[in-house]
Amino acid sequence: MIDLRSDTLTRPTEAMRAAMARAEVGDDVYGEDPTVLELQERVAAVFGHEAALFTPTGSMANVLAVAALVRPGQEVLCESSAHIARAELGAHGAFSGVTMRTWTGDRGRPDLAAIESLFAPDMGPFFVPTAAVSVENTHNFAGGAVTPIEMLRDLRAWADGVGTRLHLDGARIWNAHVATGTPFADYGHIADVLAVCLSKGLGAPVGSLVVGPADVMAELRVSRKRMGGGMRQVGVLAAAGLHALEHHVERLADDHAHARLLGEALGLDPAGIDSNIVVVERSDAARFVAAAAEEGVRIATVGPRTVRLVTHLDVDRAAAEKAAVVLSRLAGR
Ligand SMILES: *Cc1c(COP(=O)(O)O)cnc(C)c1O
Repeated sequence: MIDLRSDTLTRPTEAMRAAMARAEVGDDVYGEDPTVLELQERVAAVFGHEAALFTPTGSMANVLAVAALVRPGQEVLCESSAHIARAELGAHGAFSGVTMRTWTGDRGRPDLAAIESLFAPDMGPFFVPTAAVSVENTHNFAGGAVTPIEMLRDLRAWADGVGTRLHLDGARIWNAHVATGTPFADYGHIADVLAVCLSKGLGAPVGSLVVGPADVMAELRVSRKRMGGGMRQVGVLAAAGLHALEHHVERLADDHAHARLLGEALGLDPAGIDSNIVVVERSDAARFVAAAAEEGVRIATVGPRTVRLVTHLDVDRAAAEKAAVVLSRLAGR
């Protein structure tokens, strides 16, 4: 089976397992796990922020990050197919009392005119106050689309002008960096708080981080414990993350090349495939997915007429080429 359903499906490599086995550990709820501390410091430095906080999942990282910017009864503005709006099962409402209004952006990107028209920080007792804007880069459901750094800088300049704050869902910020060469610190610079995942294309089995100011991270440490996310000797997991940062970032370029190959096989313009995700609209989505599975290629629907393929560490060139042959034939090409 060639499994293209998600880049979360990667299994730790032998070298990663060895790094995990060697990890020095301590009780992280006491702040005494040296490997977790090293990972947090490393990731904060990479993004040019003061501090970072290790979380079990990207969803928890996003919930904590947004809650740091938006109080109960306030709203965050985001894109209509953002992960925080569609794929976190309403966590921001259920746990944080945060509501959302959305714009629909070309390829999931920020639309400054739309954001300006939604933005309502203080309309007295009549309307929900806007406390922050959230952007996602790369954008999952928009097919791994990269938002150019210039667009993010324009949004940051606007946000500074009106005095609002920005959250960046950077679950796949690594892919955006590899696709564009934009330094991580430039992405860090546009965000008040960001969330990044180690368990997607980077290939760690578990783990994400929230990144931002030290006082905010100290506050979120308490919230994380409240949510049941206080973990103990998780240096074994942080070691996987450190290994991934060392060895699995630059290789994402291979995943991007494989995604373009698969996109072409499905009749898409490879120029429209920015990173490791291919999204294709098909009226026969469910049937297409079932037919591919029969031929040894697992892909998934992410909407009634939307099929998604994701390349990753466990899909090498030969597997990508084999999948491309199968998908091209099934697509009737
Ligand atoms: C995967 C993902 C997350 C976090 O997901 P978890 O499964 O909770 O780790 C957040 N944002 C985006 C864009 C994602 O793709």
